[in-house]
Amino acid sequence: MFLISFEYNGRAGWGAVIPDKGVIYPAKEVFGVGAPDTLLEFIREGGRPGPFSSPEQGIRMDQVRVLAPIPNPVRNIFCVGKNYLDHIIEFAKQDESEKKPLEHPAFFTKATNTVIGAFDDIPSHPGITDQVDYEAELAVIIGKRGINIPVNEAMDYVFGYTILNDVTARDLQKNHLQWFKGKSLNGFCPMGPWIATRDEIPEPVELSIKSWVNGELRQDSNTRRMIFDIPALISILSQGMTLEPGDILATGTPSGVGMGFDPPKFLKTEDVVRIEIEKIGYIENAVK
Ligand code: MG
Repeated sequence: MFLISFEYNGRAGWGAVIPDKGVIYPAKEVFGVGAPDTLLEFIREGGRPGPFSSPEQGIRMDQVRVLAPIPNPVRNIFCVGKNYLDHIIEFAKQDESEKKPLEHPAFFTKATNTVIGAFDDIPSHPGITDQVDYEAELAVIIGKRGINIPVNEAMDYVFGYTILNDVTARDLQKNHLQWFKGKSLNGFCPMGPWIATRDEIPEPVELSIKSWVNGELRQDSNTRRMIFDIPALISILSQGMTLEPGDILATGTPSGVGMGFDPPKFLKTEDVVRIEIEKIGYIENAVK
């Protein structure tokens, strides 16, 4: 099942979407009148995708503004850096000693103000940064509360998956000792266009992941190349730290980001970034 948050006639809603048909069925039609008002509440209440007999009436995708599936996360977005070896190598530049997999995942977070919809504009923040960069990532949505989760049970905590652009101001990332500031400018986390629930994606999760800037292919990899796979990330992150339903975990980006080129190809105003992940869909955001 694919679950979407959207704005229709000026009102926020959520529901199930059939991507091939481009039709949305509002939550109260799919899950009954008792369905909560937001997709996040549905996840937090332990909601699960059910049998879906599509109702007669639906809303066409082109009639709505697509919101991030979780437009207002309760907690920061959890991220992992340096989770693809080819990206570690491009990030290290000339430093040979840095060109090896990490022993432990490099976790960091993005502030909640970063989240924008799948087709919203990314602010360029002129005067604050001139090194805005993109990072195509698969994001995992946590479906139930857990702490000290064993690796072999970790997938039971997955509600579903979405596409996320971990937009980064490279100059700020470098200048401040922690990555938080450079990762957390307003609008730096486009996400969506929907959540593909866990049952939609075969396991282990091996999905093609690609990004383009203005139609030029920049990133082309597969999530099977993650150094720490999804069960490992969930298990390690949950050691001594409770994960909550609705938490978002971005799993890292492969090589081909702007800073990896010589000279670097940072984003400019009017550039359009498209990220596609197999079996989920795509997001596309212009820089403004
Ligand atoms: Mg990243």
